[in-house]
Amino acid sequence: TTTFTYQFESQTFTGNVSFPTGVFIDGKFSAGSKGTTIDVINPSTGKVVTSIAEGTPDDVNRAVKAAKRAFDESWGLKVPGSQRGKLLNKLADLFEQHSDELAALEALDNGKTFNWAKAADVAASIGVLRYYAGWADKIHGQVIETHEDNLAYTRHEPFGVVGQIIPWNFPVMMVSWKLGPALATGNTVILKPSEFTPLSALRVCSLINEAGFPPGVVNVVVGYGNTVGQAISEHLGIDKVAFTGSTLVGRKIMEAAAKSNLKNVTLELGGKSPNIVLNDADLDLAINWSVHGIFWNHGQTCCAGSRIYVQSGIYDEFLRRFTEKAKSLKLGDPFAKDSYQGPQVSQIQFDVPHHGLVDAGKKEGATVHLGGERHGNEGYWIQPTIFTDTKPDMRIVQEEIFGPVAVVIKFEDEEDALRQANDTLYGLAAAVFTTNLTKGIQFAHKLQAGTAWVNCVNSLQPNVPFGGYKQSGVGRELGEYALQK
Ligand code: NAD
Repeated sequence: TTTFTYQFESQTFTGNVSFPTGVFIDGKFSAGSKGTTIDVINPSTGKVVTSIAEGTPDDVNRAVKAAKRAFDESWGLKVPGSQRGKLLNKLADLFEQHSDELAALEALDNGKTFNWAKAADVAASIGVLRYYAGWADKIHGQVIETHEDNLAYTRHEPFGVVGQIIPWNFPVMMVSWKLGPALATGNTVILKPSEFTPLSALRVCSLINEAGFPPGVVNVVVGYGNTVGQAISEHLGIDKVAFTGSTLVGRKIMEAAAKSNLKNVTLELGGKSPNIVLNDADLDLAINWSVHGIFWNHGQTCCAGSRIYVQSGIYDEFLRRFTEKAKSLKLGDPFAKDSYQGPQVSQIQFDVPHHGLVDAGKKEGATVHLGGERHGNEGYWIQPTIFTDTKPDMRIVQEEIFGPVAVVIKFEDEEDALRQANDTLYGLAAAVFTTNLTKGIQFAHKLQAGTAWVNCVNSLQPNVPFGGYKQSGVGRELGEYALQK
């Protein structure tokens, strides 16, 4: 098997990181069945960092066999919940011990800043693992009264072998969101990280062995979507697939599941989340959160507040101060102490927002109020960009951009703002800013979104469910809800 070794020397992290890579099946690393590799690119430079084993459908078959054997022999309900919880807590301990290293891998591979990766992604991953560790021995059914001669009860059983396909925007956090509930409930797993950001998930494989999970309980096969992802979605030996990614691919997964064994499917998909700022909002608060909502993680956040609706009484002041704040964000090396924004994750995720949608916005006649250009000469940075003078049917108002691009839209009437906010195929998240809490809650109830925030954005907690309305998804992650399906 191959080993990835890298010497980090930066303002935020210095250290030598070394771990085995390869497809991780039955507790062991090996080359993929074809012996081919995938290049891992550093988005800050566009240069190759390393090459890792490319998994294949044959590797998925091998992983399914290992996962099935582990489920039958050494996991599932054979292992008491308390033991499953103990191992998840041990894994969380190891995440804690290696949090600098995991954050550094995210910064190198994804381009998010080390500081944010550590404070948000890795910290949240630990929280999620611990939360589900706590659930592992508290999962029980009910006894249901029917007739005095009968006994009826429900028993919560694991699915068996579960496929998990995750994206590149929160690589290690998505590992924890997927593994936590699946392992707590006794399933065994075949996880496919994104081919763009495999490093942190591969590092986690060694931590899984170190924590003491029996071999085959977690298998990780890095590979391309149309090979490994497709093989997982249509596999007859996989009982459920949990997917996070684009709506386009979510459809393919549901179709493959329907055409194969009707495996259970949960989908966390895209979004075009509205962020409504009312005349009576606390403007400092609204501006700070609105900036964070769209520019954090370089706009590569499924619940990014990309459509900002501002009421006419405060529109001019909001736009002026929102623009100043966006201008002040420091773009630069993800390992620098003061960087807020690193590069987009890949050439394609640079091209689509930049050449695809920002150009479409210009062509369709919207005003580029700020940015709209590339930042720097190498790597994949896009300037924080603000569009104004948009029309509701423009592509930049309707389509998920997945880059640091906001549209700011003036409205007069609150009912009209609600109508526009809900005028979307998506429904992942929404936010409203107002000092009138009654109104805030009324708005939250009328917003067609899985999560509706009042006076904040991007607030995700391990114990609060998360997921979409409409084409933003099927099922819920996090919280007790994620244990159910
Ligand atoms: P993507 O759909 O292209 O890829 C996601 C994963 O699916 C990757 O691992 C990819 O290899 C795999 N995949 C691609 N084609 C496949 C196929 N035919 N069959 C099976 N698997 C396949 O999405 P992305 O570009 O990696 O991520 C960005 C998208 O993810 C955005 O739309 C974003 O909104 C969404 N997202 C949603 C959430 C959420 O919780 N709702 C969270 C993060 C990202």
